[in-house]
Amino acid sequence: MGPFLPSLIGAIITAIVNRSRRCPSCGRKQTIPYSRRNERVRCARCGASIPPPR
Ligand SMILES: [Zn+2]
Repeated sequence: MGPFLPSLIGAIITAIVNRSRRCPSCGRKQTIPYSRRNERVRCARCGASIPPPR
């Protein structure tokens, strides 16, 4: 087993767990950590509050 496999698995888990969300104001895609999936997050570009998806 090479050193790349654990990081690959980690990347896959990250992709599944993290959810991307689109800013309603500027349209920028944001990656939301799983722990914040039910919280409003601030857009990195325009600062608008992005509500959690339903
Ligand atoms: Zn925005």
